[in-house]
Amino acid sequence: MTLIKEVINALEQLAPPSYQESYDNAGLIVGSGREEIAGVLLTLDVTEDVVQEAIDRNCNLIVAHHPIVFKGLKKLNGKNYVERTVLKAIKNDIAIYATHTNLDHVTKGVNWQIASLLGLNNIRVLAPKKQILFKLTFFSPVENTQSILNALHEAGAGNIGNYSNCSFRTEGTGTFLPNQAANPVIGKHGQQEEVKEHRAELIFPSHLESIILNALRKAHPYEEVAYYLQSLENENQEVGAGACGELAEPLEMEAFLRLLKDKMQLQIIKHTKPVKESVHRIAVCGGAGSFLLPNAVSAGADVFITADYKYHEFFDAENNIMICDIGHYESEVFTKNLLHNYLSGKFPNFALCLSEVNTNPVRYFV
Ligand SMILES: [Zn+2]
Repeated sequence: MTLIKEVINALEQLAPPSYQESYDNAGLIVGSGREEIAGVLLTLDVTEDVVQEAIDRNCNLIVAHHPIVFKGLKKLNGKNYVERTVLKAIKNDIAIYATHTNLDHVTKGVNWQIASLLGLNNIRVLAPKKQILFKLTFFSPVENTQSILNALHEAGAGNIGNYSNCSFRTEGTGTFLPNQAANPVIGKHGQQEEVKEHRAELIFPSHLESIILNALRKAHPYEEVAYYLQSLENENQEVGAGACGELAEPLEMEAFLRLLKDKMQLQIIKHTKPVKESVHRIAVCGGAGSFLLPNAVSAGADVFITADYKYHEFFDAENNIMICDIGHYESEVFTKNLLHNYLSGKFPNFALCLSEVNTNPVRYFV
């Protein structure tokens, strides 16, 4: 038996909710995590048709990329598709969970999926986020430091790029005076104590704060653990919007456009004029990504693949880069496959279904 919240916990390990944009509404939107899972339906959007598909395929959890409720709902009368979709899900005991900009912002997320489909190498975050790293400094008797660090590494602290178990320590003297209510591991009540201690430092992603502090308190021998946390301005190279990478070999412009059309299963590509004869470095952002154009240019990309470009925004390409607008749906529809690949194997005791509903509201007459 698996509860909905167990699947949510797994999804939040991939894409922590704290990585979503402030305007977003990712998370459990309809239903309760305490229900047992019958089946999970994976989709880009939730519509009434998708809820019907969940009913027909015996799925009581829909995992979507786009949150069906994005702005506040003041009434639930079924007057628009959002209200009708939510009502239909509630009436049929179907939970809806969305992993949105948080999934855009992680390696192995939406933009990694696009970059992988195009066969890019050396994939990296295009606009790394700041202020999502903490530095933990703690003080411990020298003989306990390594075991504490081991516990903290185990909990997810001390990773920098391709390096794990990163920390720094210096040795010094810790002092303290236990009062009558204290229960000191070292020293006696009312007696000033001096202990040879380490001051150890390491970084961790801020969403792990409670896990890391619990691990510290559990592994540390002292009744009162001396530590402090600092928020860092450093960019986290592992988290942020967009992605960038290179094709194995530069491709002639037309061959590249054909590859893009083929791999992303596109009917059309709206693009600005090519500025180079061939394409090697490519920047991508699933969905509306025009805000990342300066990052794509400064990354030295030959092409920026995204969606939802407005007419006047296309002029911003200048002679620096070629913008390719491939459509919002087309740029993100493979997100359901990404979620399927991530969840399959983790939960063998219920069905994981890929939605077969085409939710694209845009049609092309070609
Ligand atoms: Zn989107």
